[in-house]
Amino acid sequence: MAAPRHDYDVIVIGGGVNGLATGAYLQKAGLRTAIFERRDESGTFCSTEELLHPGVKLNVHASLIYPHWGPPYVDLELETFGLELLRPPGAKYWYFYPFLDGNAVMFSGRDARETYEMWKRISPRDAETLRGILNFFGPTLVQRLQAGMFGRDSEEAFLAFLESSNSIPIFPKDWVWMTGFEFVDCLFENEQIKVAALTVSGLGGVETLNSRLVGPMTVLGCLTNFSVEGGLTARGGSHDLVHSLVRCFVHHGGRIFYNCPVEKVTLEAGQATGVVLSSLASYPDAPFTASRAVISDVSARPTFCDLIGEEHLPVATRLALKRFDYRGGALFTNYYVLNERPDFAASAKFPEVNNTFVFNFGAETLADGGRLLESVLLRDVPPDPPVVWGAAFNYCIADPTQAPPGQYTLLTWANVPYEIRPLGGPEAWDDIRESYADKVEDVFARYLPNLKSAKIARYVNTPHDYVRRNPHCGGNMHPSGATHEAQMGSWKPFPGCDAPRTPFDRFYICQSTGAGNYTSLAAGYIAACQVIDDLGVARPDWWRGEAMQGSVELLRREGVTPRYTVD
Ligand SMILES: Cc1cc2nc3c(=O)[nH]c(=O)nc-3n(C[C@H](O)[C@H](O)[C@H](O)COP(=O)(O)OP(=O)(O)OC[C@H]3O[C@@H](n4cnc5c(N)ncnc54)[C@H](O)[C@@H]3O)c2cc1C
Repeated sequence: MAAPRHDYDVIVIGGGVNGLATGAYLQKAGLRTAIFERRDESGTFCSTEELLHPGVKLNVHASLIYPHWGPPYVDLELETFGLELLRPPGAKYWYFYPFLDGNAVMFSGRDARETYEMWKRISPRDAETLRGILNFFGPTLVQRLQAGMFGRDSEEAFLAFLESSNSIPIFPKDWVWMTGFEFVDCLFENEQIKVAALTVSGLGGVETLNSRLVGPMTVLGCLTNFSVEGGLTARGGSHDLVHSLVRCFVHHGGRIFYNCPVEKVTLEAGQATGVVLSSLASYPDAPFTASRAVISDVSARPTFCDLIGEEHLPVATRLALKRFDYRGGALFTNYYVLNERPDFAASAKFPEVNNTFVFNFGAETLADGGRLLESVLLRDVPPDPPVVWGAAFNYCIADPTQAPPGQYTLLTWANVPYEIRPLGGPEAWDDIRESYADKVEDVFARYLPNLKSAKIARYVNTPHDYVRRNPHCGGNMHPSGATHEAQMGSWKPFPGCDAPRTPFDRFYICQSTGAGNYTSLAAGYIAACQVIDDLGVARPDWWRGEAMQGSVELLRREGVTPRYTVD
């Protein structure tokens, strides 16, 4: 085996979308960067694989991708490197929630007024409440996203927000101290609107909505953002995002090492100096040095407890990491190939649903949502009948290349407990995989009558399956762990960490920061900004993208100017 170069300016551990984004920024800025990835392919939680018959592109993990929300879309020129984000041609709406009475609550994909007009058909009074919210928050949406999602978590900013939160005229007093369920229940009067508002907010996991602070803030964030723009698919599947990041990184001279799990971060006098690979790596036990920074895209607990080593951690940090919470955020997937275009029952009253990319279904009332929440919190058996609140997608209306001609792919994510304690633990998912998939299918068929007659194949993926693929995630679809009151913002991954910095000099984490979930690349971007600033290197001219720039540009090409307010 030819000996690779062993000395770099920067080493990134893990080639997920966040590690790749950090690496691409730093390499493009002129720092010699190497990425070490455990598997034989990058972007583990943003993969697309042909697991059914050839030509069926199955998005095994992330399906709704959000790179167009953040600065990397522009700064890293992801389109130039092959990323093509798609929404169904001509689609006005991004999301719908159907009910058995034929109603559907819809969210626009481009204009707050469209969401408002749709809601009026279900509840004029709740539409007025939404109008008040969008008019109040719409004008500052982009700045809030830039600061709240793509900026470092600041305790000062959070305190200022809490101190001003009681003065928002349309909200009940102390709204931030409610759960998401309570907040929605107070804001709206129509049961269908309440359910739909919660489902669009619960995409990251229903338990998030049970938290004070995080719950209502998530509802607010989702109502304002998703009334205008949401995640999209990419041509050929989600993994297109990963390939564009890899191409960008390699184009600028970066080096990726596959099949190279890192075993240890090397430290000298409290400063990170490099990594040592595992004995199973392509270069067994090989040491590599980094003169400027080592950055981990691996989740908090394995990063600090294994890669750094508990012996280097103060007791308080070890304790905080023991308490680091991965619970929740588990999804159970049914993947379908149909030989007919999906035709929803709700299309009789709301024809637009058949051309809308994202939906959920299964809870008709808030109490049904409560049933789901209870099973997740108790780590009980999954709800029966299932409630599909994790999201579901109608891919081929947006991208026909994800299936052979004449075939259509659909996915449903039922939010479920990962542990299923009464059945003996997560391994029991292997026993109930097909029977639970049948239950999801029975519920789905009530909303999509041609599901069973048009079905030609089904693939089932359990939460235990993706943990086996990517064990550092700890059971949560987000390796950044659970997001709740005790684990938010600058308190994550542990108080005093100062993420993306860490207690160790020149050692950073591009994972587990507050807004680091999802494929927005936020955690990768924030880490790259921190490293370049700490190194005292001036940010190059190209490093200046802003939140929503990509989204505005994509809509502009369709002749649409996004509108974040109703009036
Ligand atoms: C079923 C499912 C559905 C999801 N749906 C969505 C969605 O629709 N939209 C969305 O935005 N997000 C979604 N997510 C979440 C999203 O996929 C993740 O938040 C995101 O992809 C995480 O990227 P990452 O780079 O932070 O982590 P990862 O993708 O986990 O990357 C970390 C990398 O580090 C590697 N690694 C681990 N240990 C080592 C080591 N010791 N040495 C070297 N390499 C190592 C891993 O192999 C991995 O490739 C979903 C996740 C799942 C599981």
